Amino acid sequence: MDGLRARHVYPLGGVIALGVFMLLPDVIWRDALYVLIGLSSVVAAIWAAVRFGRVTGVVWALMGFGQLAAVLGDTLWLHYKHIALTDPFPSPADLFYLLEYPLVTTALVVLARHRRSPADREAVLDGAIFVVGLALPYWVLLIEPNIGGYDSAFEQTIALGYPLADMVLLAGLVRVLTVSGARTPAFRLLTAALVLLLVADVIFISTEGEEILGLPLGDLPFLMSYLVWGSAALHPSAADLLRTAPEAVPSFTTRRLLTLTAVVLLAPGTLAVQLLFGFELSAWAVTLTSALLFILVVARMAGLLRRMQDQAHRLDEIARTDMLTGLPNRRTLDAQIVREYERSAHTGMPLCLAMMDLDRFKLFNDTYGHQAGDRLLIGAATAWSLALTADDMLARYGGEEFVLLMPGRDLDAAEHLLSALRLVTPRRQTFSAGLALWDGAESPLELLHRADIALYEAKQNGRDRVARAGPSPSRPAPSAST
Ligand code: GH3
Ligand code: MG
Ligand code: MG
Repeated sequence: MDGLRARHVYPLGGVIALGVFMLLPDVIWRDALYVLIGLSSVVAAIWAAVRFGRVTGVVWALMGFGQLAAVLGDTLWLHYKHIALTDPFPSPADLFYLLEYPLVTTALVVLARHRRSPADREAVLDGAIFVVGLALPYWVLLIEPNIGGYDSAFEQTIALGYPLADMVLLAGLVRVLTVSGARTPAFRLLTAALVLLLVADVIFISTEGEEILGLPLGDLPFLMSYLVWGSAALHPSAADLLRTAPEAVPSFTTRRLLTLTAVVLLAPGTLAVQLLFGFELSAWAVTLTSALLFILVVARMAGLLRRMQDQAHRLDEIARTDMLTGLPNRRTLDAQIVREYERSAHTGMPLCLAMMDLDRFKLFNDTYGHQAGDRLLIGAATAWSLALTADDMLARYGGEEFVLLMPGRDLDAAEHLLSALRLVTPRRQTFSAGLALWDGAESPLELLHRADIALYEAKQNGRDRVARAGPSPSRPAPSAST
């Protein structure tokens, strides 16, 4: 069968089969058609498993066998109803039906594991909030009313098995939906098929399998689930079921936030409805789910907070650092000068600042290329940093200009340090420097300006040297600089 044609013919044939099913009277042929529709999706899934192999094949195989279990259940029912003319409960059919859920859930777990992205812890918590929130209405509407009224513990277990199996399947589905894999057509169809199966189960449990308005309407979502599932298996993107999303999906979208809010509100909502309409209160169930939901939401918030703190820390680091050299940038330097002013004023220790500029760096770039120039800037920054003490601060001021802040050194000591730096500069590159001692009163800008003028002087006098700055124009020369 040509894959492309099968993919188009199958849903079309499925819709026609559904129409025929609805029109047929309740005879053996109608239920035979039901079994055939189920079988078609089993064949499609197993065919996908054989074609794709590997993990994708395993996922399709698990789903195919899960559906096969359900189809065997359907077949047994056909036998009871039309041939043996009995209505047994529980029966081997129930075991087959219940077998479908662990098989399909295992497929979903494998799927989720292979589509996982790094931000997964948050997805797990979101999934848990969703499932715990939905567990309450499941409990109140489908599980609690089913407790008691059975002849044996075995009957009771089988009866409770269905809603419990649904909860497990729902958890698997939510798990797959919260990890950030690619939303291919096959994946969407598969999701739709699982939702249809869950809806079908809820309708079946609520109506106890009776016909609605004299029509087999309750069967429709089961049959649609089979057909949509089969269509998913036949779609070309069925091969790509494990594909991860090209880029990480933002894990906290507005839609997810709204969904989680609605789900969390189910707990007080359930209690409110019961109080308003005078139903028996599910006090313990609500207490338990609310407590669990609180814990999960707080854990989710803690995760978000931690991530925000990490990001703030990283952004702060980026804002304070020069990208190329990794040195502190001008913004950090400005703040540090102010801090050193305070310290120097307090301790009376000298504070020197040098403006350093690589000599004829444009020529270096022109000769060896811009990339080599970048490497020299990085190399110089590293070599100089290694020669400094923890008190000194070297910052990239811009381009090939650096500022060295030297608390605790007078002009002689500072000049000595600059000479040492000249020796370690890579590739025999030279630099000129303008050196200024803080006069105890001038602003950082004034200090930098004096150093800059001295630097200009060093360049004028032939480069590869240090020039000391003259006194601030408006003030007498400080004693330390003489
Ligand atoms: P002088 O001795 O007078 O300082 O001469 P110079 O060539 O160093 O000075 P000029 O101001 O004429 O040129 C500075 C050069 O520094 C020009 C620019 O290409 C280079 N430069 C600035 N920033 C970077 C950078 O980040 N990477 C590289 N590779 N070059 C840079
Ligand atoms: Mg320059
Ligand atoms: Mg220069």
